[in-house]
Amino acid sequence: MNELAVTTTGGETILAKERVDQLGARLRGPLLRATDEGYDECRRIFNAMIDRRPALIVRCLSADDVLHAVRFARDHEALVAVRGGGHGVAGNAVCDGAILIDLSLMKGIRVDPARRIARAEPGLRLAEFDQETQVFGLAAPTGLISNTGIAGLTLGGGVGWLSGLYGLACDNLLSVDIVTADGKLVTASTTENPDLFWGVRGGSGNFGVVTSFEYRLHPVGPVLAGMIAYPYGKAKAFLQAALDVSSNGPDELTMKPVLLTLADGTRAGAANLCYCGQLAEGQRIIRRLRSLGAPLVDSVQPMPYVGVQSMLDAGVPLGNRHYWKSSFVRHPGEQALEVMVDFMARTPSPLTFSYLMRVHGAATRVRPSDTAFAHRANCYDFAIISQWPDAADDERNVAWTRAFFEAMHPHVEQSVYVNNLGEEGDDRVRAAYGPNYDRLAVLKRRYDPTNFFRLNHNVRPAPPAT
Ligand SMILES: Cc1cc2nc3c(=O)[nH]c(=O)nc-3n(C[C@H](O)[C@H](O)[C@H](O)COP(=O)(O)OP(=O)(O)OC[C@H]3O[C@@H](n4cnc5c(N)ncnc54)[C@H](O)[C@@H]3O)c2cc1C
Repeated sequence: MNELAVTTTGGETILAKERVDQLGARLRGPLLRATDEGYDECRRIFNAMIDRRPALIVRCLSADDVLHAVRFARDHEALVAVRGGGHGVAGNAVCDGAILIDLSLMKGIRVDPARRIARAEPGLRLAEFDQETQVFGLAAPTGLISNTGIAGLTLGGGVGWLSGLYGLACDNLLSVDIVTADGKLVTASTTENPDLFWGVRGGSGNFGVVTSFEYRLHPVGPVLAGMIAYPYGKAKAFLQAALDVSSNGPDELTMKPVLLTLADGTRAGAANLCYCGQLAEGQRIIRRLRSLGAPLVDSVQPMPYVGVQSMLDAGVPLGNRHYWKSSFVRHPGEQALEVMVDFMARTPSPLTFSYLMRVHGAATRVRPSDTAFAHRANCYDFAIISQWPDAADDERNVAWTRAFFEAMHPHVEQSVYVNNLGEEGDDRVRAAYGPNYDRLAVLKRRYDPTNFFRLNHNVRPAPPAT
C-alpha cells in the first residue's frame, strides 16, 4: 500500500507512504496502520458501542512522540483523537480515518513522599497510580473504578471518594506538561501559563495533549468502605435515609446511593460509601443506614485505600455496550426518588444501575471561576449507567434510558458533569462547562484557534476580538 487516506478537518487527504514511514522512523513508540498486528486491540475502548477505525495509531512512548504526532497531523491538516485510558463513554478517544494519539503506553510515575507530590504520565489507570502512591500511604483524589484513565478523568474534573476531603482530581493538580496545537511542549501551573492551567482543570481535552500530570498527595488509609443494600421494597426509604446521612455527613464521608441488580439477580436499593476518618466515628455516622431491618448486603468494613478503589470494578466489566445520561441534582426530593425507583424496577438490562454521587466538602469550597470546572455547589451527580452485552438490544436500552432521563427532567439541573457526557448536542456541552464556557472559548481561541483538538467535548474558539 503506497498511499494512505486520512480524514482532515475539511474532507480527506492522501499521504504518500514515504511521509508515513518518515513519521514512524522519528517515533520511539510503534506506529500502527490498519494492517498491522495489534491495530484492532488498540482501537478498542471501554464502550463497546464504539467501533471506529483510525488511519494511523501513534503509540506514544514519550512527550517527543506526542510532539511528532501533533506536528505531523498539523502539517497534513489531519483530524486527531487523543486516548488516555479509553474510558470516555462518548468515544472521542478513537476516530474513523484520522490519527489516533494513543498515550496508553506512557505509564511512568514518580512519587516524592517527602514533598507529597506525584508526577504521572497520561497512560496510567487509577489502579496503577494508586498502587504507587499507596506505597507511601499517600493518595490523590481520583475516581471510583480502578481501570479508568487518570488523564481524561483529571482533565474533566475527577469526582471520587476523596473529593469531600481533598477536592476533585483537578483541584490537586500542581502542574501539567502539555503539547499545544502549535506543536510546542509547555508547562502550565499557577506561575507558568496560568490561563492554560486554569483551562486544563475541567476544560477536558480542549487545549492540547497532556504528557505529564503533577499531583499533590495526601496521607490516606485505611478507610471504612463498602456497600449496604436493602430489598427493592425498601429502596425509596433507604435512598432517603442514605441521602439524609450523606447530606449531613462530614467531608470524610462520601456516599453514592444507587439502585441496581445484585449479582444473584435481586433488585436492591443500596449505598456505596467511603469514610476516610477515624474508623469508629465512621461506623457511628453510618449507623442509620443499618436501621431498616436486615440488609441484603452489608460489606462496609475497614479496608486499604486500594481496596475501596477497586470495590466497584465488577459492576462495570469490560466489553459491554454503554449509553449514559446524567445531570447534577441539588436536592433529590421524594418525587425524584419515585421516578428512579419506578424506572429501575423495569430495567431492560440487569447490568444497568442509577446513582446519586455526592459532590461536597472541599470540592465545593473552590470558587466556580477558580478552575474551568464550574459546578461547585453541594449537589449530587445523578447518572443512569445503562450497559448490556448484545448489539441486538441497543434500541431497547437506549429508548428506556432516554425515557428515564426525560422523566427525571423536572427534578434535575441543566448542568452536567463533562466526563459523564455521551455523544450529545452543543447545548449539553455548554451546560457541562456552565458559566465558564465563554472564558474557555476565549482561551481556546488563544491556544487552539483552528480547533485542531476538536474530537472531545468541544469548546469552539471564540470569534476574533474586534
Ligand atoms: C466505568 C467508568 C467509571 C467512571 N468513574 C468515574 C468516577 O468515579 N469519577 C469521575 O470523575 N469520572 C468517572 N468516569 C468518567 C471518566 O472520568 C471519563 O470517562 C474520562 O474521560 C476517562 O478518562 P480516560 O483517560 O480513561 O478516557 P479517554 O477516553 O482516553 O479520554 C477521554 C477524553 O479525554 C481527553 N484526553 C484523554 N487523555 C488526554 C491527555 N493526556 N491530554 C489531553 N486530552 C486527553 C480526550 O479528549 C479524550 O477523548 C468513569 C467512566 C467509566 C467508563
